[in-house]
Amino acid sequence: MAEPTIPPFETTALDAIPKIASTARGVFRTHKTKNLQWRKVQLRKLYWALHDYEPQLLAALKADLRKSAFEALLSEVDWLKKDCMFMLEHLDTFARDEKLRAPHVPAHYSILNFRIRKDPLGTVLIIGPYNYPVQLLLAPLVGAIGAGCTAVLKPSELTPHCAMVIKQMIEDRLDRDAFAVVNGAIPETNALMAEKWDKIFFTGSAAVGSIIARKAAETLTPVVLELGGKNPAFITKHANLALAARRLMWGKTMNAGQICMSHNYVLIEKDLVPMFIECLKQAYRDMFPEGAQKSPDLARIVNQRHFQRLKKMLDNTRGKIVMGGAMDEKDLYIEPTAVLVDSVNDPMMTEESFGPIFSIYPVHSLDEALNVANLVHRTPLSLMAFGSKKENERILNEMTSGGATLNDAYFHGAVNTVPFGGVGDSGWGAYRGKASFDCFTHFRTVAETPGWADGLLAVRYMPFDMKRLRLLNKLVDKKPNFDRNGKVVKGVGYWIGLALGLGAKGVKGALLRWAVVVLAHYLYKVRAGK
Ligand code: NAD
Repeated sequence: MAEPTIPPFETTALDAIPKIASTARGVFRTHKTKNLQWRKVQLRKLYWALHDYEPQLLAALKADLRKSAFEALLSEVDWLKKDCMFMLEHLDTFARDEKLRAPHVPAHYSILNFRIRKDPLGTVLIIGPYNYPVQLLLAPLVGAIGAGCTAVLKPSELTPHCAMVIKQMIEDRLDRDAFAVVNGAIPETNALMAEKWDKIFFTGSAAVGSIIARKAAETLTPVVLELGGKNPAFITKHANLALAARRLMWGKTMNAGQICMSHNYVLIEKDLVPMFIECLKQAYRDMFPEGAQKSPDLARIVNQRHFQRLKKMLDNTRGKIVMGGAMDEKDLYIEPTAVLVDSVNDPMMTEESFGPIFSIYPVHSLDEALNVANLVHRTPLSLMAFGSKKENERILNEMTSGGATLNDAYFHGAVNTVPFGGVGDSGWGAYRGKASFDCFTHFRTVAETPGWADGLLAVRYMPFDMKRLRLLNKLVDKKPNFDRNGKVVKGVGYWIGLALGLGAKGVKGALLRWAVVVLAHYLYKVRAGK
């Protein structure tokens, strides 16, 4: 079959951008996006657009990243179709008002009919990166449509074929005024940032994320930042080394390692290093029997600049390459490569790899591994732990990260319905699944006081009556069951309850309560002389 033709990359005229933004804002003000049926129609149209544009999207992903059709479907086109289906299936439930009851509302305020309305935030800007140029731009859009927002999208200019297909597809199939695509690089993004948005959803590097957040702060615009990180993988002596090696190889070869969640470095107990390297090499041979460059499955580095960035990391390392190391600039190919290092200052440890290369850092103990990881990056986007249950829990406890996977590579971010996001400087906010809807929604608390209830709430009116306030507090406020040192104080009520078998929980409580009933029944019979 002939490859579909993709129009050459064209940037959006700078002077057209204010009009695009104001049109999207204008559509939001018509309130038509608040209609659930309208949102569903847009989601259904997006689903079919993805279906119908599949050949163009696959061709574009191949042209930009040499992404295989398998990967392109799994992690971009089919992923998004699943997103549409999930949102369509659950939208009524997500969008429904939530009644607020006890314990959120104290009993004496229950007449106020508290509820939470799910209001769309408004008009949002979505800025995408190059590595998953379709998924990471359109998955937030699914959330925005579901929530009832209008949106302007800015794809990465580093994947120009994808950017053009996305523009064509969105403008061809969705409401043209409510959803638009602006193509371009820094000047176009700056022009977009000069507009007022109700939220900016940015996926990309921490450096650009901080530019976006700074600009957004000028207009108090909320931002979601989906950034990167130097992600650790921990391997202890309790790990299955062959399994860990195979799964980590998978993590570093999907999309040629251009994955924000993949491991930057492996912290492994010293004695295990030789065996782990052997396992890695075996996994490599299993995955690439003809060698990685000949494999039709391995994607390529996006461009010369990123190729050079990765090459520089390998050129400047003081570590020893223990697997891979080959490169071919014309083919933008970098072999899956592992480097044994012994310093946290090595470029393989200090820079985000975002490619098929990673370092192995031997440690003496889990204590040392945790120290190193916290030193390299205190709040990475993800963390992977291959240890015993107890060790894995300890790692989770003593090292923070946006998400974590135990006994595998980044599965916490590989399922489209599970919330995903960073922490600290690896990102703010989360999306995917219900979180995508929530991300573009304002949770508006609404109270509704019935007219007849005025008498009940009269204490609030002037002239104030201190006595009534005190009496009311006495009636409704709970007494603290703790002292000034923060210790729980067990009052008389607790001891009486416990004596009667009412304080105890579980089977013990049930038995005690049963014993109290039997005793009461017995006493009653004795008193009644039966
Ligand atoms: P990038 O930050 O260079 O670019 C992202 C977007 O910002 C692009 O659309 C680009 O046009 C725009 N941009 C670039 N420079 C800009 C500037 N000075 N001012 C305004 N806009 C600008 O990121 P990238 O190279 O496309 O992607 C790689 C990075 O993204 C890595 O750090 C990776 O970890 C991160 N990432 C994070 C996630 C996540 O979900 N957390 C996913 C993918 C990638």
